[in-house]
Amino acid sequence: EVTMPRPPRRRIISVSNQKGGVGKTTTAVNLAVALALHGNRVLVIDLDPQGNASTGLNVPHHAGVPDIYDCLIDSAPLDAVTQPVEGIPNLWAIPATIDLAGAEIELVSVVARETRLHRAIEASTMQYDYIFIDCPPSLGLLTVNALVACEEVLIPIQCEYYALEGVQALTANIELVRSHLNPNLDISTVVLTMYDRRTRLADLVEQDVRSHFGDKVLDVVIPRNVRVSEAPSYSQSVVTYDPGSRGAVSYFEAAKEIALRGAEQTGEQE
Ligand code: ADP
Ligand code: MG
Repeated sequence: EVTMPRPPRRRIISVSNQKGGVGKTTTAVNLAVALALHGNRVLVIDLDPQGNASTGLNVPHHAGVPDIYDCLIDSAPLDAVTQPVEGIPNLWAIPATIDLAGAEIELVSVVARETRLHRAIEASTMQYDYIFIDCPPSLGLLTVNALVACEEVLIPIQCEYYALEGVQALTANIELVRSHLNPNLDISTVVLTMYDRRTRLADLVEQDVRSHFGDKVLDVVIPRNVRVSEAPSYSQSVVTYDPGSRGAVSYFEAAKEIALRGAEQTGEQE
């Protein structure tokens, strides 16, 4: 597929922001589905005990289902807890069940607690173009595991007051992980979410974020769109629920930008 070329090598992208409700899960799910629909092989790892990404992809995640907890705490192989996403070829997911709620505490006393996810991913024999890690709204050990396992961080920023304030704590954490645990870590992408064109505030926040993060910020902004918020109640992403909606179109556009940038970064032409 020309519009979203497959990357020359696997890209692992953590979708992170320790603020809740900024669009992490929505962004991870919709980018993953959009890329999969355009021929990329994609895995979504649900690393939030709330399991919203699992719900959005309609992946079973009730108690007892093998999940990412089993990898992190019990050293289960990643491929053993991976499920195909029904109805979307090329897309797989690892659910989060209620078990994961205890992982933040249990990880503290586990050997190599910061690198559990990294090791699990490295041992997978599946060939993916993209792995998206949907992080919880905190900077604890689950998020540290995500930051150690990836090379790219994607930060969704909601266009509202104090948008950048919380991001500073995340940036500091990324620096710490980079200097101690993962020298390849980088903020590759910032996405403006729930953008409301009618407000002057959205415009001000956008200017702020663009001057702070420069060309890491995607050109496309994700509008606030009711179809986006409806989709999860149908266990769907908006890009499958209503592909023509403004929300879906902007997520397709975002996925395309990310794919094209990835092709550029390594010097490859589309
Ligand atoms: P997070 O994972 O950061 O907590 P979510 O992706 O779950 O955030 O989004 C929080 C809420 O906002 C959800 O109810 C989601 O459906 C809704 N939402 C996310 N993006 C949009 C959007 N572009 N337009 C309208 N509602 C949105
Ligand atoms: Mg979430």
